[in-house]
Amino acid sequence: MTFETDYYESFWSYGIVDDPSDLKRLEGTARLIPEGCVNLIDVGCGDGVFARIVRQKFPSIQITCVDRSSAALEQVRDADEKMCCELASLPFDDQSFDCVSCLEVIEHLTVRDYKNALSELARIAKNTVIISVPYNEAIEKEVDTCPQCRTVFNRDLHLRSFNDSTFAELLSDFGFRMEESSIPVVNTHYWGFRTYYSIWRKLRGVPDRSELFMSPLCPLCGYTPEKEKQAQINSTPAQRSAAVSASTSPRNSKIRGLVKRCWPRQTTPGYWIVGRFTRLQTVARSTSTPAKRS
Ligand SMILES: [Zn+2]
Repeated sequence: MTFETDYYESFWSYGIVDDPSDLKRLEGTARLIPEGCVNLIDVGCGDGVFARIVRQKFPSIQITCVDRSSAALEQVRDADEKMCCELASLPFDDQSFDCVSCLEVIEHLTVRDYKNALSELARIAKNTVIISVPYNEAIEKEVDTCPQCRTVFNRDLHLRSFNDSTFAELLSDFGFRMEESSIPVVNTHYWGFRTYYSIWRKLRGVPDRSELFMSPLCPLCGYTPEKEKQAQINSTPAQRSAAVSASTSPRNSKIRGLVKRCWPRQTTPGYWIVGRFTRLQTVARSTSTPAKRS
């Protein structure tokens, strides 16, 4: 992928990602940090939002942040150390960190880097690796077609999908066992709203997501859409909801809130799964019966 690196630089140059459901996911993730953790490394730290949460909850933990994107690292504020490097070859000694986190990263890795990356996460961890990935994602459903070279690719450059069993076995080959997992956010679907919105879009001539090119650039040929259009399409959910509230009268917001409370809905498992993986010898030590004193 020739322009893959540029894709991530462009992605992170849009600024901090502060989506409420993302924050909820990260708070759920921070709960998996083991007691007594002295130092933590966040591999593929992005803009440092997880480091920020860790710092708030556990001010005494020493935090290292690494990412391949320098645009991302520029935005990291809450790290004691930060470094630009590739996941598949991390410049740290074996078992350097009490806890290694790698959140929403490994689904982006190429076949060449994937196994090396998992092996590296396990190698630099003393006891604990925390991983999160999209859960049961249908990567073929969220695609962009490049208008220049016609390549079809997943909008987030996700290259693989994980289910319960593939997730549980992620680090089995590297001496780790999954101790705990959770789906930190649930999805709420309001019956009929999708149909309502698709009719609403057609009537107003608003294009459907599937008709838009939503990526910062094409990872194959480097095609880049106009900046203004791009910013509009990729505004964060928080910005979009602020725009909606600004354009809605208080009375209409009240009615909207009331309808939402009464409307029939369904909740389903959310978009992410997060797990804590523990080095096997540690498991054996903690579950074995203490030696009797003679
Ligand atoms: Zn292209």
